[in-house]
Amino acid sequence: MRRPLLLNGFMATGKTSVGRAVAERLGRPFLDLDAEIALRAGSSVAEIFARSGEAAFRALEREALRDVLETSHAAAPVVALGGGALVRREQRLFALDRAVVVTLEAPVEECVRRARCSGEERPLLAGDPAGRAAELLEARRIAYAECHARVRTDGRSIEALSREVAAIWERDPLAVAAGERSYSVEIGRNLLGARLADLVGAAPRVVLVTDETVFSLHGAAATSALAPVQPIVVALPPGEEHKHIGAVERIWRAALEGGADRGARVVGFGGGVVTDIAGFAAATYQRGVAWVGVPTTLLAMVDASVGGKTGVDLAQAKNAVGAFWQPSAVLCDVELLATESPRGFRSALAEVVKTALIGDPELLDLVEAEAPTLARGVGEHTAEIVHRSIRVKARIVSADEREAGLRALLNLGHTVGHALEACAGYTRLTHGEAVSLGLVAALRIGVRRGFTPPSLAERVERLLAALGLPVNVAAEPLEDAARLLGHDKKRAGKKLRFVVARAPGAVETTELALDELAAETRALAAAS
Ligand code: NAD
Repeated sequence: MRRPLLLNGFMATGKTSVGRAVAERLGRPFLDLDAEIALRAGSSVAEIFARSGEAAFRALEREALRDVLETSHAAAPVVALGGGALVRREQRLFALDRAVVVTLEAPVEECVRRARCSGEERPLLAGDPAGRAAELLEARRIAYAECHARVRTDGRSIEALSREVAAIWERDPLAVAAGERSYSVEIGRNLLGARLADLVGAAPRVVLVTDETVFSLHGAAATSALAPVQPIVVALPPGEEHKHIGAVERIWRAALEGGADRGARVVGFGGGVVTDIAGFAAATYQRGVAWVGVPTTLLAMVDASVGGKTGVDLAQAKNAVGAFWQPSAVLCDVELLATESPRGFRSALAEVVKTALIGDPELLDLVEAEAPTLARGVGEHTAEIVHRSIRVKARIVSADEREAGLRALLNLGHTVGHALEACAGYTRLTHGEAVSLGLVAALRIGVRRGFTPPSLAERVERLLAALGLPVNVAAEPLEDAARLLGHDKKRAGKKLRFVVARAPGAVETTELALDELAAETRALAAAS
């Protein structure tokens, strides 16, 4: 089901005229939210402001917008919003999840001039229009920056604008809201050639960071997508053992020798190892340059590409050094997954199942229906699976960029999973296989503690097994894993926030003493 298209932005940026033209181009209904509110209230927006005040108007606006976003649309409408409709963040995040939001922009003087010429009453500009407009725009800066795309409208024809906006909607991007550093994620087939150059933009130098395996398979496609720019290519040796500061230093040096300045753009083209390293090199080179993530493994797409966590390992600890540094865009071309190793692809499906449990019951149904195909590799529904997985993660990361609370839910299955991964010396089990076992553990512990219905635990276990993932947790060294639980990064003193599932789409954290969790982990030996 397609999502509605919302045109956001300051007054007189062209939302209504562009909206009408886009609706016509796409053959979709058009709605002017202010006109809809006036119709419902039986009086004009200016009258509602004068009679009942701004708060009353906002309440009506919220209601009208909710109706747009909560109705499932056969023909998703194009909606021109009032300039203040998405100022409340809660409302904005809801809109970013349920719709594609494009912000139209124009210089403030131009908006004031157009507003004057239109002759429409603008209650919010009363008194000193230019001064009020500048203040209002500043107050709403983040409300306009958090969107799927920003489009400048001054000096451009409605025809050109409607073409551009319609194309954005057709790409069905996902947004990660992170203030001025918000970005969107595009998912589809054959996107590398079609979109990479646009996303890199007019950067004078491009540093293409990849690994030798990915470069040998897909390097030509990436460099030709970037032509006529001659990127500075850094192809690192593949593998987690090369995810260290030496790799970052290699990128810094190559960038400097290649003449990359602060306007340069880094492209991280590879699995999660490469995107973590490239993002960290971008965060630190010249005190921070922009980067574009082009993940090439399923894990990097559904997990590593979104959220802005970048970094490298130290010999003693994974991801011990790093920074939050959001990419400026992410491109997931699922065609690239055709060459991924079957084990790598399968392992990442454990994260997909985890994500579905956290926030998308329909994704769980889809993975179940597609399990026989998925166990073999990329299939017809892979793009949808990636899209849905990223949508859940984007929703969570947008609400909690710096891991202050909600983001902890993403840890479902990871507490025992990490311990088992460490017990297996980071070699016998892949991360995803350990997460599969960790999910089985989390669900069974949830059953024992009265959170999880046994039928859900059984359902997920069956699904993981059908995907070719390990589920026999009793066969793992649980005694050793129980001892390792104290090393979990999410531990606070002698307690730990453990994620449990009540139903698909309903997960929560519960505080568990380390001793209790260790006992629960040992008890898994008897529970199979
Ligand atoms: P990886 O990057 O090591 O890639 C696995 C292997 O697949 C490598 O040998 C690579 O060369 C190869 N490969 C990559 N793309 C390929 C393709 N299209 N065709 C053929 N081969 C290909 O591992 P990964 O599983 O993608 O990522 C794991 C890393 O991601 C870990 O370091 C982990 O810490 C990190 N990670 C980060 C986050 C985050 O939020 N930043 C989240 C999850 C995982």
